[in-house]
Amino acid sequence: MSIHRSGGHGDWIACLMPSSPMHHATRVVAAGRPPRTIGGPLNPPITLSTTFHAADADPDADWTLDATVVDYARTDVDTWAALESALGDLDGGHATVFASGMAAITATIDHALFAGGPVAMPRVIVTGNAEYSGTAARLAELGARGWAEIRRVDLTDGEQVAAALVGAHLVWVECPSNPLLDVADVAAISDAAHAVGAVVAVDATFATPLRMRPIELGADVTVHSATKMLSGHSDVLMGVAITADPATHEGLRRRRRSDGAVPGPFEAWLVLRGLRTLDVRLERAEGSATILAQRLRTHPRVTRVRYPGLIDDPGHATTTRQSSGPGNMIAVEVDGAVTAERVADACRVWTHATSLGGVESLIERRRRHRGESATVPKGLMRLSVGLEHVEDLWADLSGALDQA
Ligand SMILES: *Cc1c(COP(=O)(O)O)cnc(C)c1O
Repeated sequence: MSIHRSGGHGDWIACLMPSSPMHHATRVVAAGRPPRTIGGPLNPPITLSTTFHAADADPDADWTLDATVVDYARTDVDTWAALESALGDLDGGHATVFASGMAAITATIDHALFAGGPVAMPRVIVTGNAEYSGTAARLAELGARGWAEIRRVDLTDGEQVAAALVGAHLVWVECPSNPLLDVADVAAISDAAHAVGAVVAVDATFATPLRMRPIELGADVTVHSATKMLSGHSDVLMGVAITADPATHEGLRRRRRSDGAVPGPFEAWLVLRGLRTLDVRLERAEGSATILAQRLRTHPRVTRVRYPGLIDDPGHATTTRQSSGPGNMIAVEVDGAVTAERVADACRVWTHATSLGGVESLIERRRRHRGESATVPKGLMRLSVGLEHVEDLWADLSGALDQA
C-alpha cells in the first residue's frame, strides 16, 4: 500500500475561488481552506509531524522518489501549503513561506545572484539609499566579502536608476521604504531592469498584497515580512517570497530546504488566522493614519511628515498609480534625537517599541538602532498606526509632542 500526500500546492487545498475574480477582501477570507466536505473542517489542520509515510520506490532505479511526494518536514508541511495557497492567491504567484522575513529576503537574494552555476563575482545589486536594517546588513556583508557590488541610488529618480543598471543582476526595491516612506515606481523600474536582464525583487511589507501587488506591476519576486501586517498581532515571526515564475519558485523552495529556514506549522497557522482580518485591520489603521498624518503636519513641534496618503507627499502620485491605498505607516520628524526620544517615552496609548503592523500602535526613533542608515534623520520617528480609537491616539501623541 502506498499513501500519497501531495506537495505544497497539491490538490488537497481547494481554492474556493470561482473562476470569476473576486475582491481581495473576499479572497483574504476564503483562500487557503481545505476542500468543502461534509463534516470536514473549515480551517487547515496544524500538522505536527516531522516524517511522513514513504511512497513506493523502484528498487532498480538509482532514485525514484517523485519530488512532489513529501517525506520530511523540512521539505513541506500541509499547514505551510494552506498559508502559501492563500498568500500566492493574494499576490498573484506561487508563495514560499520562511521562518522570518529575513530568511525570505536572504533566500531571494541568494537565488537571484547565485543560482544556476558558477558566476563571475562581484554580482551587481542596485538598491535604494535606505532600507530595512536587516536587509542593509545582509547587502553590506555580501559587499564586504567581495561577492556583490552594492549600488545605492534614489530609486524614485528614473535617471539615477537607469545609470546604475548597467551590468546589474538584481534590483532590490523596498516599497514603500522603511523607514523613509519613499515610493519607487515598480513598473518603470521593472521595465528598465528587465531591459538589461536584471531580476527585480520588491519588499512590499509596508504595502501588503491588499494595497500593492508588485508581480502585477512587472516585478519578478515579492517578499513580505509576515511578522508585520499580514499576521497582525505581534506574536509570530514569518516571511514569504512570491513569484509567478515556476523555476524561481522551485529555486526558492530548494533554498528553504537546504538552508533549513523553515517556519513551524503552528506559526504558519497563526499567520493564516491573522490574515483573515487583514482587510478590516488595514482599513481601520489606514483611515486613522490618514487623519493623524494631516494633523501632525500642523503641529508646531513637527518639522516634516512623510505619508504617501498626503496629496503633496513626494510619493503620492506613484502610490495613486500603483497602489490602492497609502497604508498604516507614517514617518514624523522633530528637531532632533532628544526631542524624538522624549516624545516616544511620553506616549501612553502608543507603545514605545520596535516592529510594526500589529493591532497596537507603535512609535520609535529609528536612529537609536546601530544598523539604521545614516540617511535617516536623527529626529525621525516611525509610527505604526494600529487599531485604537484615532482620537485617543491623537490626544496621546499631540500631548507628548506638546511636552517635548
Ligand atoms: C521587519 C521587516 C523585515 C524583516 O522581517 P522579519 O520577519 O523581522 O525577519 C524586512 N523588511 C521590512 C520592510 C520589515 O519591516
